Amino acid sequence: MAGYQTFTTEDAMRFADEHSGLFGDHSKLSCEEFGDGNLNLVFRVENDKGSSLIVKQALPYARCVGESWPLTTDRARIEAEVLITHCKLCPDHTVEVLHYDAEQAAILMEDLKDYRILRSELVAAKQFEHLAPQLAAYLANTLYYTSDFALTGPNKKQQLGRLLNPELCLITEDLFFTDPYCNHERNNINIEIRNDAQQLWHDETLHAEVAQLKADFLSKPQALLHGDMHSGSIFINDDNCKVIDAEFGFYGPIGFDVGSLVANLLLNYLGHFGLTADTAAREQHQSYLLSQIETLWQQFAEQFKQLLSNECREPTLQNNLYQQRFMQQIFTDTLGYAGCELIRRTVGLAHVADFEHITDSTQRAHSERKALQLGRELIMQRHELSSINQLITLLRYLK
Ligand code: ADP
Ligand code: MG
Ligand code: MG
Ligand code: MG
Repeated sequence: MAGYQTFTTEDAMRFADEHSGLFGDHSKLSCEEFGDGNLNLVFRVENDKGSSLIVKQALPYARCVGESWPLTTDRARIEAEVLITHCKLCPDHTVEVLHYDAEQAAILMEDLKDYRILRSELVAAKQFEHLAPQLAAYLANTLYYTSDFALTGPNKKQQLGRLLNPELCLITEDLFFTDPYCNHERNNINIEIRNDAQQLWHDETLHAEVAQLKADFLSKPQALLHGDMHSGSIFINDDNCKVIDAEFGFYGPIGFDVGSLVANLLLNYLGHFGLTADTAAREQHQSYLLSQIETLWQQFAEQFKQLLSNECREPTLQNNLYQQRFMQQIFTDTLGYAGCELIRRTVGLAHVADFEHITDSTQRAHSERKALQLGRELIMQRHELSSINQLITLLRYLK
């Protein structure tokens, strides 16, 4: 990292210019830093004809905390490698990386300026019918083709070794599976739900299940995950959606990516109890979200099964009964990790706009309590539930 320097807008322009043939006259470039994420710098470089590219640079610390939280800049390599791999497997729905520079921990990528971040759209109650089908295709393709069904041993193990991502995985291990279940100083708890949060700290039965989910996160390298599949990592417009921000990528349990996404739709569902006062409008949006969750799981499962029966070349793994069990186990994991995401977004360090934008704190507490209750139910009942409709039924009976 000898030559590493935090980019100024000048540096970002030079970097974009050097590694793309798009720009031509350097003197006509302009640049702004506009990252709103927690960890990195994000620059937009534009020429006088309105063409633009994005430069994302990893800082040697977490941006949201500062230099007191050092963090490897090697995460830029992970992000570039995961995005490039996923883009080969699902080019329609993955942001395109044009160049990666190891020394500067910087990535040059396409500018998704015609898209908006999914989370903001969902908070504004916007609806897109292509959301679930497109993300189902993204998940099925990226996860199937990086699994043992598609990659032979040495191939996968080489990739796995390069993408262990210990530092960023540790953040997830702490924030997802540890902090919310104890009185940790990093937690961020609305005073009105303090009692509900405290119950989590003493719930030994729940802790046993969360321990199992964490153990699987640590030791079940099923496929190359995105690792941060929340609605802030997805860009959408009226035709398409594209996934960005894969720095948490690693080989882990397939249900972790699917479950994170399902949970983010559920967080939006619960958030609208406080975001949308008009009952008819709220119910309409919530029923849209339920149908998207249903479609997401059904189309993901359908495509994954299709790939299993058409593409799997490994004789032992072609066994039908095994494949059925495998799908059921992804479903069980999906519910469990969705439950963890609901809980950690409610009482842990990183909250979501779907709740934070509820101005009335009692209303927010109402959504937050439901998230904790649903999260717990999903984790505890994940082995008993066998269809996505049962999840939806659970949701209707929340107090
Ligand atoms: P972080 O890892 O710090 O969370 P992200 O990759 O999520 O960074 O990017 C932060 C923000 O920068 C995004 O929310 C989005 O507004 C903007 N951004 C990132 N990548 C792109 C892109 N390819 N095109 C347009 N905007 C982008
Ligand atoms: Mg991000
Ligand atoms: Mg962001
Ligand atoms: Mg990120």
